[in-house]
Amino acid sequence: MATIEQAKNWLKAADAIIVTAGNRYANYEGLDILSEGFTQEFPKWAKKTKANNIGNALEAPLSWEDKWAFWSDLIQRYTLSYQPSHQMEQLQAVLADKPYFIANSSFAHLFEQAGFAKKRIFNIFGDWTKTQCSSGINHGNTDDLETVKQFVAGNGKVPKCTVCGKELELHMPLNSNFFPDTDANHDFRWFITNNEKVNLVVLQLGVDVLSPQLVAPVINLVQQFSTWHFISCDLEASALPDNLQKRSYSEASDPKELLAKLVKEEK
Ligand SMILES: [Zn+2]
Repeated sequence: MATIEQAKNWLKAADAIIVTAGNRYANYEGLDILSEGFTQEFPKWAKKTKANNIGNALEAPLSWEDKWAFWSDLIQRYTLSYQPSHQMEQLQAVLADKPYFIANSSFAHLFEQAGFAKKRIFNIFGDWTKTQCSSGINHGNTDDLETVKQFVAGNGKVPKCTVCGKELELHMPLNSNFFPDTDANHDFRWFITNNEKVNLVVLQLGVDVLSPQLVAPVINLVQQFSTWHFISCDLEASALPDNLQKRSYSEASDPKELLAKLVKEEK
């Protein structure tokens, strides 16, 4: 396997960078959907949903009024009040002068809030600042931040689909009504196609079992394109295929630790 110094050189020489970010990355940006801190932070919703974390609470049956009031509290807390962490600033430094694309499994709109270009982000599990129709038919996605602000102010109304009149819900895979963002998926595929033959680095940050779509398929891509390199904080180097050992740097640490090493200047 390569050393961290080689990994830094790959990044410096890269013509393009793909970032894959998962649940462990979102944790450092303040959102941990499995944290039991939920019960202290949202006692009212913990009681109503009988859940001990956000993930379970999002699946609890509630009235439409309560759903939107609850979702609005979450979005206010984790997205509208969000302040980018130091790791986000370090990632901005890594991507500063490079063409990049971010494939992200958190639905909290964090990269957009931190200032990354919307056209360069694919939120594979949706984005809770947008809605989907609860009919199960894809009637498009609309923005919900105005609705959220009204609910937070105590005078919100459950939004309805302009096509069929059914209630709107968050654009997330909470049930079988979820359709991924096809435009962003298309943009991501184009980015891959256009960069098949250049020096590209895939930087994997905090991707775990909650988003398998960002693990094996991405490693397969790197195997397929011989000019690509892979840098990860999520795997022991020995877990990578033999034919990737020379083209990869991996450590079992966390996104914050790896980014700090990657941006550290030599004295
Ligand atoms: Zn509809």
